[in-house]
Amino acid sequence: MKTIYFLLALLAAPQLAEHAKAPAYPKPDDRYKADILVVVAHPDDDTSIAGYLPRAIYEEHRRVAVIYATRGEGGGNAVGNERGAALGAEREIEARRALASFGVTNVWFLDAPDTPAQDVLRSLEHWDHGSILGQVVRLVRLTRPEVILTWLPVCVAGENHADHQAASVIANEAFDLAGDSTAFAEQLATSRSREHNLEGLNPWQPKKIYYFSDAFEAQGYWWQTSPESSPFRKNFLDGAGPLYETTETSPSRHVPYARLAAEETSFYLSQEGTIGKKAVETGNFSDFEYPVPLVFGKSLVGGSTTGDVFEGVVPESAVSFKRNPGVESPAGRGLLLELGGPWAFYREFWKAHDLGHLAQLLPVPEVAIGPGSQLQVPLIVRNGTSQSQEVSLSVTAPAGWIDETPYKVYPLRPLEAYPVQALLRASATTKPGWQEISWKAEAGGRQIESITLRVCLCGGAMPQ
Ligand SMILES: [Zn+2]
Repeated sequence: MKTIYFLLALLAAPQLAEHAKAPAYPKPDDRYKADILVVVAHPDDDTSIAGYLPRAIYEEHRRVAVIYATRGEGGGNAVGNERGAALGAEREIEARRALASFGVTNVWFLDAPDTPAQDVLRSLEHWDHGSILGQVVRLVRLTRPEVILTWLPVCVAGENHADHQAASVIANEAFDLAGDSTAFAEQLATSRSREHNLEGLNPWQPKKIYYFSDAFEAQGYWWQTSPESSPFRKNFLDGAGPLYETTETSPSRHVPYARLAAEETSFYLSQEGTIGKKAVETGNFSDFEYPVPLVFGKSLVGGSTTGDVFEGVVPESAVSFKRNPGVESPAGRGLLLELGGPWAFYREFWKAHDLGHLAQLLPVPEVAIGPGSQLQVPLIVRNGTSQSQEVSLSVTAPAGWIDETPYKVYPLRPLEAYPVQALLRASATTKPGWQEISWKAEAGGRQIESITLRVCLCGGAMPQ
């Protein structure tokens, strides 16, 4: 009986042509290929680099795609009554029209909620971090960018928008994950069978990542008045990456890049678009004649810090994925005082993503507040000893500041970290400018450590 079954099975087998050649495997869809993928938080964030993008698009024929994490529905409306979701619907169209003026049409909005805050972790929490990250990884694999441009993942004195930094955190994470076949593997094609094709994407490793900043030093049409410059240091963006002049004339468009930037900005009428519109109408582009400073993030293809964005990039070539080495934070020994919150997050984030050099941009941390405002500073006191400790905190601030921190002494069990919210109020009459505030921790009559924060009391220099 067994022999008969075997013969029947042979007869039922399909007749395959000898050495039949399979059809070519479909290539990724070229309509979505990007040289530059811009990852930002809100419609109009792209205007920060509107002096650079036309150079890449018109002179170098780079393909640009843009991801907006939110629709910017949280702000005010400069021209109409619409607010909230209705305003978000308008802003999506403003952004699409603005980018279309550069010929950019591959634009995605990810539905994260617009979150006005200063702490990157607050936005990541509101956004549902993992969901937005999965979507950005998908779009990196779809667009296969050579370069990612995003906000600077550093706490700065300036706008320091939490959404901007959340967009950056996710863009950096996606840079490191999109090439990893074990990350969001459900997006990848594992075979041609329908069951295993899933989303049909391939891993993709971008080659370089650069940043732009909303610090005071990143000058642009969006600051109402001249931002305060710090007397304590030089412009931290100097030499941190390539700088693109906007007063130069585009050889292919025969107009200055400042004009192209003003034209792109003019579509954002619900925000500051009238500044761009007026510039175009009057032919006065002085508000757009600031150079665009980029900050070098990292490169897998070499190139120098201040060299061109595409230095070292061979378009369409593949670079192999390399997993970042795991970073172990050494266990704290003794008693330590550190800045907490977003500063503590970034200390570890930069190490985890091979961006250690970003710690050197602003070695003394900075914030900006308005006169009379309360300054909230997260601190962490660590007890790395095997004994319980009592740590006293004291603050040194210039005249006019009031310490509103409710407690001065903190009990710590062995190996415990105590998060402290230090509260200080700036006097409403204190002169605008930069000041230094420091905290000192003592235990058993002995000073442990002190930390310094530079504060800009910047009354008039807040974003429009
Ligand atoms: Zn924004």
